[in-house]
Formats: sequence, structure tokens, C-alpha cells
Amino acid sequence: MKVGIVGVGLVGSTAAFAMALEGAASEVVLVDKDENLAAAQAEDILHATPHGHPVNISAGRYEKLNSAGVIVLSCGVGQKEGESRLELLGRNAEVFEEVIPQVVEAAPEALLIVASNPVDIITQITTKISGLPTHQVIGSGTILDTARFRSLVGSHLGIAARSVHGYVLGEHGDSEVLIWSGIRVGGIPLEEFSKQIGKPVTDTDRRAIEKGVRKAAYRIIDGKGATNYGIGAGLSRIVRAIRDNERAVLSLSSMNRNNEGVAEVCFSVPRILGSAGLASELWPPISSEEHTALRQSVAVIEDSCRELGYL
Ligand code: NAD
Repeated sequence: MKVGIVGVGLVGSTAAFAMALEGAASEVVLVDKDENLAAAQAEDILHATPHGHPVNISAGRYEKLNSAGVIVLSCGVGQKEGESRLELLGRNAEVFEEVIPQVVEAAPEALLIVASNPVDIITQITTKISGLPTHQVIGSGTILDTARFRSLVGSHLGIAARSVHGYVLGEHGDSEVLIWSGIRVGGIPLEEFSKQIGKPVTDTDRRAIEKGVRKAAYRIIDGKGATNYGIGAGLSRIVRAIRDNERAVLSLSSMNRNNEGVAEVCFSVPRILGSAGLASELWPPISSEEHTALRQSVAVIEDSCRELGYL
């Protein structure tokens, strides 16, 4: 499967690198408004392929995205000094207003994977501008937050993160909701599992894990200026699920179809993903506190979409 990536700074190039190491795609085309950067990233990643998979990596303009099965969108601009969040959002909306028509013209059948932040709002904007059916426009949403949650619960229990099943839902951002009530390890609810292995999860432990998940981006950005590895691996995971028609269940952002009485905006719930895109959204049985928090999280996204005129 051919994959295009538009915006190959840290996130886009790391996703391409992960795809090359994992063999997630047969061909990856890098597009960036900085053409020299795209060419340099392609050349550098190509040199990793003898140690990874025979993935054909190149740079090009939008026309080269034709016949791509998936296009990852990780383009954007950074925050200027003194700029408000909404002003930044407005500038990133302008980037997408420029990029999306060119992407859709080059590859109208491609599934679009949005990674740029704030990812739920940018996914909403992409859905509206592209005019594509909602199953074709997928935000990476809370795939990263869910991975952080599973890793931290796994580390606490001394269990492989892969064996911990649980999700972070809602906004990819401060209002996200960690669904403690839904965690299962080996099919066993967390409380029961932790009792059986003699490793309790106290309220203090929960608070520490919550902080670890919620503040991860702030801590990492403080230390190295950006986050790229977690999301790069997450984007490659999404691409593999599509390529292999896995029908994997992942926490991804897409336009809600007024499920459970919440607004028609993009946010994350567990969704089934295969080669035709999103098959359906799921609504896990969550506690009433989690439900309230999820509605509040959706309201945060709704407010921003309304202010930008993308509701
Ligand atoms: P970056 O600045 O390194 O890269 C952005 C790239 O976009 C640059 O190479 C730039 O030239 C390109 N670009 C800008 N405008 C463009 C246009 N009009 N057309 C084509 N290319 C254009 O930034 P980054 O660290 O790679 O982050 C990219 C985005 O991903 C940001 O919005 C960031 O917040 C987001 N992000 C999302 C997650 C997530 O979980 N979804 C995690 C980390 C970062």
C-alpha cells in the first residue's frame, strides 16, 4: 500500500521511519511546503531500509500522492510568542484549508489520518473541508494517550502493556477521560486482577498514573521541545490496521453521529478500523462520573469548533 505524509517535520518523519522499520507500507511519499526538508527526510529514511523493510521512500509534490491508500496529515505551524490557543488554531486551520483540497484532488479515495493538533478540531475541519464521508477521515485522537495509559498501568502491575486493555476517550488534550472502570488485564477487571497478583492500585497510584498520562506531553516538550516517537509509532499502527484490514479496535477521533446525546463533533471513542476506514464507533459501558467527564470533554471541542465556524 502506498502511503503519503504531508508535513514531514518531527512527527511526519518519525511516522515514516516507523513505517519503514515495520514495513507498514510498500511505498511512502513525503510532501512538505519545505521541499528540501522532504527530500532530505526521504533520503535519510531510505538509508534505514536495508535494516528494516524494502519500503520505497521518496519526496514529491501533491500529484505524487495519486493512488495512495492512506495520507497522514502532520503539517502545521508552531505557536508564536503571545499568541492565544485560538489564534494558533486559526493559523493551523488556514494550513488545512490550503492542504486538504490538494490532497483530495490528488487522491480522492485515500483514507486521511489527521495527526496535527489540536487533533480533534483539525479532524473536524478536515472532515468539513474535504467533503469526504466520515469513515474516510480519521484523527489519531487518543491513540497516544491510550498507549501512555496502558504503559503506566502495565509498569505499575509489572505486566506487559500489550496485555493491559483500557482506553482514554474524549479530547486528545487536557479534558481527556481515563476510563478506569473499563480496564481489563487477561480479561479480568483491574481491581480483581491487582488483588490476585497482590499489587494493589491505590487512589494515590491512580492519581500518579493520571498525572503521568495527562502531563506526559508537557513533560516531554519541556525536556526535548516536542513529542514524536509515541505518535510516530501510533500512526504506523493505524496504517498497518488499514493495510491488513485488521478491523482493529483503536481509540480514534472521528465525527460523532450523535451517539449518546453528545454533539456532532470529532472526538475519540473505541472505533473499528479496517481497509475501508472506520467501520463503526463503539460506546463502552462507563461509570456515570466518566460519562459526565466525557460529555464535558466533548463540550470543550464543540466550543472551539463553534468559535472557528466549523460546527
Ligand atoms: P514540525 O514543525 O516539526 O513539522 C510541521 C511540518 O509541517 C513542517 O515541516 C512544515 O514545513 C510543514 N508545513 C507547514 N505548513 C505546511 C503547508 N501549508 N503545507 C505543507 N507542509 C506544511 O511539527 P511536528 O513536531 O512534526 O508536529 C506536527 C503536528 O503534530 C503539530 O500540530 C503537533 O502539535 C502535532 N502532534 C500531534 C500529536 C498527536 O498525538 N496527535 C503528537 C505530537 C505532535
